[in-house]
Amino acid sequence: MLQGARHVHISSLNKASRECKIPIKIVELRTSLELLNQDIDALIIPGGESTTMRLTGNSPSSLLLPNLLDWLRNNSNIPVLGTCAGAILLADPQDGKGPLINASIDRNAYGRQINSFQAEVMTKLFDRTFPGIFIRAPRFNSDVPSENIVATCGDEVVGVRKDNKIALTFHPELSGDVAFHRWLIEQAKTIMEG
Ligand code: GLN
Repeated sequence: MLQGARHVHISSLNKASRECKIPIKIVELRTSLELLNQDIDALIIPGGESTTMRLTGNSPSSLLLPNLLDWLRNNSNIPVLGTCAGAILLADPQDGKGPLINASIDRNAYGRQINSFQAEVMTKLFDRTFPGIFIRAPRFNSDVPSENIVATCGDEVVGVRKDNKIALTFHPELSGDVAFHRWLIEQAKTIMEG
């Protein structure tokens, strides 16, 4: 909750929870203490500005980012949805410990804000199309192993999965379609029951 399109994720999670009839409790994380003092079963890393997230998340009053990255490495089964800037943090954590997904990524690869666009995405995860909203989006490089690809837009890879972590270069929370949020909740439930 340090920066970016985070409040829309909360309403999307609530809508997804109603749709799949799985009750949820949403915990807002701003500091490392908030992360370490609760049981977290799934995580969303929102879109926004990854530079700002790195600055605020590494500031002494938060320290959320380095602790979150370590926590993710120690809990590799936790379902995670990283969108846009969130995908950048997963692919390029810059903490000297290597990426959390099997992909490298380029920031602002489609150009400036004016080059933001909407386009239909095809997702293997739900075997259907999904409305893709790309806002000053990053771009995965062509080094993504095919088994890790979960979403494409034309020839481009726009969604990557490793274990239970999904990184998308678009903003599903702005589309009104909460399929990815449902996936996150259902995945967390499966793991909790497993
Ligand atoms: N341009 C942003 C960045 O580099 C990402 C944009 C977004 O999250 N919508 O962090």
